[in-house]
Amino acid sequence: MAIFKAPVDDTKYLINEFLDTSELNGNPMFDDMTPDLTDAIFEEAGNISESLLFPLNRSGDEQGCTWDDGSVTTPDGFKAAYDEMTASGWGNLTCQQEYGGQGLPHYVANAVDEMVIASNMSFSIYMGLTIGAYNAVNQFGSDTLKKTFLPNMVSGKWSGTMCLTEPHCGTDLGLIRTKAILSNDGSYNISGSKIFISAGEHDLTENILHLVLARTPDSPKGIKGISLFLVPKINLNTDGSLGNPNNVSCSGIEHKMGIKASSTCSMEFNESKGFLVGELNKGMKAMFIMMNGARIHVGIQGMALSHVSYCGAVDYAKERIQGRALKGPKHPEKAADPLIVHPDIRRMLLTMKAYTEGARALSTWLSFQLDVSHHADTEEQRQQANHLVSLLTPIFKSFLTDMGETVTSLGMQVYGGHGYIRENGMEQYLRDARICQIYEGANGIQALDLVGRKLPAHMGQYLRYFFHPLSQFIEENADNESVQMYIQPLSKSFTRLQNASLVIAQKGLSNPDEAGAAASEYLKLFGLVAMAYMWAQIAVQIKSDAGSMSEEFYDAKLKTSLFYMQRILPKTGALLSNIMSGSDNTMSLDAEQF
Ligand SMILES: Cc1cc2nc3c(=O)[nH]c(=O)nc-3n(C[C@H](O)[C@H](O)[C@H](O)COP(=O)(O)OP(=O)(O)OC[C@H]3O[C@@H](n4cnc5c(N)ncnc54)[C@H](O)[C@@H]3O)c2cc1C
Repeated sequence: MAIFKAPVDDTKYLINEFLDTSELNGNPMFDDMTPDLTDAIFEEAGNISESLLFPLNRSGDEQGCTWDDGSVTTPDGFKAAYDEMTASGWGNLTCQQEYGGQGLPHYVANAVDEMVIASNMSFSIYMGLTIGAYNAVNQFGSDTLKKTFLPNMVSGKWSGTMCLTEPHCGTDLGLIRTKAILSNDGSYNISGSKIFISAGEHDLTENILHLVLARTPDSPKGIKGISLFLVPKINLNTDGSLGNPNNVSCSGIEHKMGIKASSTCSMEFNESKGFLVGELNKGMKAMFIMMNGARIHVGIQGMALSHVSYCGAVDYAKERIQGRALKGPKHPEKAADPLIVHPDIRRMLLTMKAYTEGARALSTWLSFQLDVSHHADTEEQRQQANHLVSLLTPIFKSFLTDMGETVTSLGMQVYGGHGYIRENGMEQYLRDARICQIYEGANGIQALDLVGRKLPAHMGQYLRYFFHPLSQFIEENADNESVQMYIQPLSKSFTRLQNASLVIAQKGLSNPDEAGAAASEYLKLFGLVAMAYMWAQIAVQIKSDAGSMSEEFYDAKLKTSLFYMQRILPKTGALLSNIMSGSDNTMSLDAEQF
């Protein structure tokens, strides 16, 4: 049977002891975040994820969504759970209070998100998409649009979508064909076909607000001519009540590998009334600004699925008896020892644990940087944090979602054949995790964003915002004997990252294929070092001043950190060799030779 325990203790530890929030001291929004308050939030989020959402995970996967003549029905129990989650405010944690939201910081909300996603990824997508759409309207919409649409999005009465993809264009959004024609009343008539639209149609809400990328007839070619429009499924009357349908229809849903309870819809817009969000032809700019939040959310999906897979794997490894410990029976009274005695099983479990907890630390810290980028006192602080988040977002998205695939696959491996069959739920996590590497910008595209945009940005300034504090941390701990087993591997891998950054920057200038061929491995190298930085800080902090968690908790953290440094981080050596080998080995084969 599938097992899920929300990571409440680890989250409390990270927020109360690991994270330094002093940069936002004095800001009432953050001063209110006392440990009593945040602990209560995490405990309640853990409870509702375990008791309400997780029991619907398997049944949702089995039943999936159904399409009938344009209507989509979500699996049994989803509507009631949606109503309960939105009524208790779990869908609007970061939304502004003036629209009915709770105005909580990202570092709190993202920790809650992990629990919700881990318990039921498909379900979480309906709520997550609405937040994405809310952010677009809140940041770029006119006052009228905000007043008209945001309160009902925040309450969960209406949901949102992001409509980018078309049959002939996914990554290359410059090819978008959906048309927007200006009407006499200042709104636009939107016509075109969108595919793969998550939550495009469903039975959870009375209205659905589509954020649609489209182009006006005279707009420039390519991405410079794309604008963003809000297109409701049902038009509103002047008093704000629901009016006539808006010619938005769902022509089908996809049958797919995972997240089967999340509807993935083909949408048709036929002269549907739409409202411009932001400036004409600046739709991609709005998208790019919003993408930091959305991509961080997808990275959290990879981490959340890793966590739930780990829960199952640990439980099984302690219960399942098979073979004997190599140094002699550990449980002679039983017919065999539990799987957890075997070094290879422990290697898999520790790999899962080290990645997942390292990712959670990275997520906590990065989410706080997102808060700093919005709320710090000075423009300089806000901008610096914004650049840091921009640099780390593609890394966070790709590294954590690749990790999601690795970890959920290991989770299945721990179960052996019992993981491959459906009965125990482990294969669902792997199936659900796989999409995270593809949507919200495929991982290869994230790597190109990193080497093509983020590395050269402001003459390498973004990079320095990460490298400087990391160098300083290594220097500060250079003479501390008790932590060298963490600091030295970190320092060695950091040197590799610096070398790789230099080589890619230099070679990429004369031959862009050099940067392109190295991009994915460079991103992975960066992710491994960023995670090592988290694990080293955890170790240094615990060694110098352990807090209020149990001794056993800190001991496990130190041992897991060491495992990461000794058994995972060395992968950076092989990655550097690959990067240094150049692009000829990748580019010299003619297309016909494949
Ligand atoms: C379940 C699901 C849910 C989705 N939800 C949404 C949604 O809500 N809204 C929405 O708008 N879309 C959604 N999508 C679409 C998703 O974002 C796209 O599938 C994704 O952006 C990739 O586009 P594509 O499938 O057309 O692949 P392509 O763009 O054809 O890419 C194919 C491969 O080529 C690589 N590639 C492409 N261009 C380059 C390049 N220039 N250099 C190097 N490599 C390149 C890509 O990395 C990828 O590996 C969803 C998709 C799925 C499957």
